Amino acid sequence: MPEEPLEHEHPGAAHAATSAPFTCATCGKAYRHQPSLWKHRKYECGQVPRFACPLCPHRAKRKHHLVYHLQARHGGKPA
Ligand SMILES: [Zn+2]
Ligand SMILES: [Zn+2]
Repeated sequence: MPEEPLEHEHPGAAHAATSAPFTCATCGKAYRHQPSLWKHRKYECGQVPRFACPLCPHRAKRKHHLVYHLQARHGGKPA
């Protein structure tokens, strides 16, 4: 009795191009909606991370990212 070969599919890879047609020309990040890409271009891409961790060289682009980093990495909040 022959065994049927298992086929491994990779969901996401096949339709990634069509589901996220808006691609950032700078970093290649893809978005489904134009406003998302616009926000990324304005606030994320090419922006220097402004929020520096006082305890290590880590830098965050958003304040809540830094707060999360402080909690996750250093177990506390900034004074
Ligand atoms: Zn980008
Ligand atoms: Zn840190």
